[in-house]
Amino acid sequence: MLVVMEKTATPEQIQSVVDVIQNRGYTARSIPGGDRVSIGILNNPGPVDPSLVVGLPGVKEAIRVTRPYKLVSREVKPVDTLVDVGGVPIGGAHLTIIAGPCAIESLDQAMTIARHVQRAGAHLFRGGAYKPRTSPYSFQGLGEEGLKILARVREETGMPVVTEVMDEATFDLVEAYADMVQIGTRNMQNFSLLRRAGHSHRPILLKRGMAATVEEWLMAAEYILEGGNGQVVLCERGVRTFVNHSRNTLDLSSVPVVRKESHLPIVADPSHAAGRRDQVIPLARASVAVDAHGLMVEVHHQPDQALSDGAQSLYPEQFELLMRQVTDIHAAFRHSPALVRNGSGKGFKGG
Ligand code: PEP
Ligand code: MN
Repeated sequence: MLVVMEKTATPEQIQSVVDVIQNRGYTARSIPGGDRVSIGILNNPGPVDPSLVVGLPGVKEAIRVTRPYKLVSREVKPVDTLVDVGGVPIGGAHLTIIAGPCAIESLDQAMTIARHVQRAGAHLFRGGAYKPRTSPYSFQGLGEEGLKILARVREETGMPVVTEVMDEATFDLVEAYADMVQIGTRNMQNFSLLRRAGHSHRPILLKRGMAATVEEWLMAAEYILEGGNGQVVLCERGVRTFVNHSRNTLDLSSVPVVRKESHLPIVADPSHAAGRRDQVIPLARASVAVDAHGLMVEVHHQPDQALSDGAQSLYPEQFELLMRQVTDIHAAFRHSPALVRNGSGKGFKGG
């Protein structure tokens, strides 16, 4: 349930509503909104009787939240969330581009690619220091050395950096270096990692599990918000299907669904979806056309020698082309009324 306060509600009135909720054994969570305060009621085992709060001074109304996810839903927060990654915004009308190699391999490699993608217009630099690899014999990443290289790249270029965390054991370390912490597809339902991310002071990039429904993905994001970290960006990176012409299938329809259901920004990763370079630019264009708030793209100056995901990494010149094209598409559609700001439709289950 969401308790919407009057615009004129005083801090004392808000506090007494919080007290009433907590005295009943539930959790009360203030939801930052436009010009009024709302209070979400969480951890209620069954339906909450609205008379608990309706009629209390300063309360405008109590709205039943119909979705299984609460804090991530537009029912609870109708306005878009803007995520701040070291000064770079993701969300709203911005188109934010995250680019870089799959893995940090050396200072020289990272710096060379960072300069290329920055010149082409990327806003954030990405690169894995801890790599989740299918084979234990594949390159596993440079670990802390990779994080130090990322910090050097930020120092030299001014670009904030995004990197993946694989487990709780290395969370503190990754968080100390990264401007944004990525949780990968294989960890989307690692609930202890999600809980740790919930009390991180860094924004989180939550990739969709390769076999997760949108509802499961939003529930995973709910763990992070429930822990107190509202700075979450969702990343559609393709799901497993029967096809063999690409590594995964980029689920473009998840973008409008997420935009309707949630106030959180959503970016698309055409690189891991495609698994091959020749599909990345068309999928990037399509992602921006369906209103993704940004892209995550793998780029390498020598993809043939890349220690991971070379086959899907764009050459720098290809990335420049991608940037020009997606910038044009975004400019053409950014004022489109189709960009849903207030979730008015029904849930995706019932259509
Ligand atoms: C990555 O971004 O390098 C990565 C491993 O992505 P995913 O978790 O989507 O496979
Ligand atoms: Mn990769």
